[in-house]
Amino acid sequence: MARDFLTQRGNTGPTEQRAYRFEGRPDADQEQKLRQFIGAARFLWNRMLADWITSFEEKGKSDPVKTPAAYKKESGLEWLNDMDSLCLANVQLRFIQAINGFFDGETNYPKFKKKHSCKDSYTTNLANRENPNLFLDGCLLKLPKIKNPIKLRLHRKIRPGGILKNCTVTHEPNGKWYFSLVFEYPKIEVPKTAKEKDHSEIKAIGLDMSLPELYVDSDGNTPSYPKPYRKIAIKIAREQRRLSQMEPGSNNYKKQKIRIAKLHAKAKHQRTDFLHKQSHALTTQYDLICIEDLDMAAIKRSLSFGKSASDNGWGMFTRMLDYKADWYGCTIIRTSRWFPSSKTCCACGHVHKELKLSDRQFVCPQCGNAMARDHQAAVNILNEGMRLYLKNCSEAA
Ligand SMILES: [Zn+2]
Repeated sequence: MARDFLTQRGNTGPTEQRAYRFEGRPDADQEQKLRQFIGAARFLWNRMLADWITSFEEKGKSDPVKTPAAYKKESGLEWLNDMDSLCLANVQLRFIQAINGFFDGETNYPKFKKKHSCKDSYTTNLANRENPNLFLDGCLLKLPKIKNPIKLRLHRKIRPGGILKNCTVTHEPNGKWYFSLVFEYPKIEVPKTAKEKDHSEIKAIGLDMSLPELYVDSDGNTPSYPKPYRKIAIKIAREQRRLSQMEPGSNNYKKQKIRIAKLHAKAKHQRTDFLHKQSHALTTQYDLICIEDLDMAAIKRSLSFGKSASDNGWGMFTRMLDYKADWYGCTIIRTSRWFPSSKTCCACGHVHKELKLSDRQFVCPQCGNAMARDHQAAVNILNEGMRLYLKNCSEAA
């Protein structure tokens, strides 16, 4: 149910999002509600995590995460009914994302949220467009389950024509209240410059290496990587355990070693096959493919990245792109490894130096452009690659 709320699309067709952060001035009653919702979000997160750990320890596997509705029925938890249900739905969604991220090796083990030592915030969202539970009217913000709207200090203009999709309320340690608003707009095609128009017949794409998937492209797509190694890895680990219980040098031991080697070979074969298909599709479909010139040796040296980076096969993939590009008349452009592809805003060019590696979402502090980090990086790689390409063309001419 939570997912339905959160993915409900306000616009049909391609959309883009803008985020704005404003200080707000809740009155005493409103402040009390906001504190309650933040507390409820923290409480639910901690309960979900505790229950998840318990089921893991007792059964060796995790039960499906319970819904907020199920928690509301528990005796002693009736008070959750008075909370913003969308705030609770967001907690469930984020919790599921956190454990999936953990199992995919992308994020650390989820942590308990302690009062004041974690971010005091909660997120709510638009559930119904016809009868909106969340909207901004002038400088007044209406939030679900809070009777009167909260006054915001709008220090900058909001682009008109958007739909307020979600709001994150944060109580800063200095006592101030902030409201991050995400609006959704129909996507506007940016008119091309004359120089680009001359080359408008060029079909180009940018790729940003991404984990655990192979890449995100400049259209925001990700190939459906079959993750063969990951699936087979579980099997390999099991067979490896069996091997450790066998007498070294025995016939069974030798047979088991061969079985394991075959599994490794199968994983490798599946991965290579996938990389061939992807590189073939790209080099036959595009005239220009822009990628980052990554130092794979350095990436492998950093331990945490190492296994996934080699598993993910990016190095092998780029070698395939290189030789297949030669076969099919495609050009591969490598952007400098010092080019700040993930820190540059592709809408206004602002370099967001404070962006951390853990920030999966890019929100430009300058213009509010909000995009998934890897998608934005791929767009920047494409733009930079095109720039280098056109520069080469004009120098050659
Ligand atoms: Zn920007």
